[in-house]
Amino acid sequence: MEHTEGNKWVLELIQLSRDVLKQSYSPYSKFPVGAALLTTDGTIYTGCNVENACYNLGICAERTAIFKAVSEGHHSFKAIAVAASSDVLDDFISPCGACRQVMREFGTEWTVILTARHGSSYRAYSVEELLPMSFGPHHLNQNKIPPGSIVAEVQEKNNH
Ligand SMILES: [Zn+2]
Repeated sequence: MEHTEGNKWVLELIQLSRDVLKQSYSPYSKFPVGAALLTTDGTIYTGCNVENACYNLGICAERTAIFKAVSEGHHSFKAIAVAASSDVLDDFISPCGACRQVMREFGTEWTVILTARHGSSYRAYSVEELLPMSFGPHHLNQNKIPPGSIVAEVQEKNNH
């Protein structure tokens, strides 16, 4: 859904995602991206894309912000705003598939705010909308092997 006006926190998040663009390390793509992530307890983490001479080691702004938050103990998120430099993008910025999967790890019902080149216009989607029918943590909990059981099995075999 496209919006031109938003809650105060949405506009703040958008502004922070734009502010962090200046930290982007993107000498190869020259495609600066910024993200601002709001946790459910009200903490905000920003992130930018960080590229590398070994191209495939670069990381997107969204994952930078999410990993910063997780490394500080946050697993519950309300929203993430994503912005690209106005020099390189005409349309709304959109998270790549890898970032959508990382977002999904922390729930499907939080909000992804995609910003446009100019002004306060944005689009808001749930993670579920951006990554339907996704693979998630609950898939791995089915038939879960109890912790230590594999070690016990190996020890059992070694004893015979
Ligand atoms: Zn990405």
